[in-house]
Amino acid sequence: MVVSLNHSQMQHGLEMAPSAYENALTQYDRAVNKMNLDENVVEFMRWPQREFTVNFPVRRENGKIEMFTGYRVHHSTVMGPCKGGIRYSTNVTLDEVRALAMLMTWKCSLVGLPYGGAKGGVLVDPKALTLRERESLTRRYASELLPLISPHSDIPAPDMGTGPQEMAWIMDTYSMTVGYAARAVVTGKPINIGGSQGRNEATGRGVIITMGEALNRIGMTNNSNISVVIQGFGNVGSHAASHAHELGFKVVGVSDIDGGLHNENGLDIPAIRQWMDEHNTLAGFKGGDTVTNSELLTLPCDVLIPAAMEGQITEHNASHLRTKLIIEAANGPTTIEADDIINDRGITLVPDILANAGGVIVSYFEWVQGLQEFFWDKEEVFRQLERILVRSYDATVATAEKHNVDLRTAAQMTAIQRVGDALLTRGFYP
Ligand code: GLU
Repeated sequence: MVVSLNHSQMQHGLEMAPSAYENALTQYDRAVNKMNLDENVVEFMRWPQREFTVNFPVRRENGKIEMFTGYRVHHSTVMGPCKGGIRYSTNVTLDEVRALAMLMTWKCSLVGLPYGGAKGGVLVDPKALTLRERESLTRRYASELLPLISPHSDIPAPDMGTGPQEMAWIMDTYSMTVGYAARAVVTGKPINIGGSQGRNEATGRGVIITMGEALNRIGMTNNSNISVVIQGFGNVGSHAASHAHELGFKVVGVSDIDGGLHNENGLDIPAIRQWMDEHNTLAGFKGGDTVTNSELLTLPCDVLIPAAMEGQITEHNASHLRTKLIIEAANGPTTIEADDIINDRGITLVPDILANAGGVIVSYFEWVQGLQEFFWDKEEVFRQLERILVRSYDATVATAEKHNVDLRTAAQMTAIQRVGDALLTRGFYP
């Protein structure tokens, strides 16, 4: 793997190979190698602008203080305030957050939002905390982020392991500090405190919109004949499954962290969602054969949607996939080696920065609504979401055709070009 970043200059997190950030840089290199960008611009955009690490205390229920580590990385402020989620996971590293922040820069640029990319994370298993501990952790982390976040500098949102409740606590912590209710400081909030209609469903819905665009282009339009496998049943996977089911697609496989279910005649998604609400696990649901998560990925299907986490499609399973299309609902689910195998096999892959951009697009609508104190109905949200995603899909395909590259490279090229042009127009300060 070619990684031309000077590793000795980066402080932490690049020890594991191939790291998430190395993956992100390799994708970046592949895109810029096909472009005619100023070399200073290429160098500038390889680097995260700011990286913040904090160690902070949380009092556990047993009275003891436990220290936690959190990060927030601003990859770029070229296009506007920084935007990106906060994840709570035991896999969080500075390297991972750095990679995800870079992906946010390209994602926002690709879909035309006036933002730069950011990401945050806390190294914690949120399921191991009580509600009060989760609130303390979130509020303390939010207060440590006060120098960074505001409606005009950095606007966090949910990601893996966080949701509307965490955003409410962050919004409240910030608001208590400034002395007024500052809605636009986070997105993905509950609707009763200024969240947007449709934000919860937005990422999953956007995944299915981009799937529809991809299917149309290969002439597959009879939804009831099209089989879909979805890995992951969190916010993104579950809403993608529901929307696919509503549109008449045959969802033949789903999974959560414990394993998956397969039914070649189609799974009853509303019943599975109800089961999940009651049991918090797919295990025990009757209505499909049980499969492991790795078996799920190689089930025969027309569309495979990795919606769980990064690094799921690798050189070990890419040659065994039995799908025509891959729609990347998770961020970074495919390794570089797997990308090459997938391209050689002629499988179309719609990359994360396009396929899962529905979340940040509706975050943008939420932010605009919060700043204007003027709220839209759900139909308007979904109409504008579809308009932006279809426009972005068309722009990606146009780049892919013009330069004869795959959709990931095309999406990155489209996004990088816009940030690069804006950087040159603004100039290098001082
Ligand atoms: N965490 C989501 C993502 O990776 C949403 C970010 C946002 O809405 O700002 O795109």
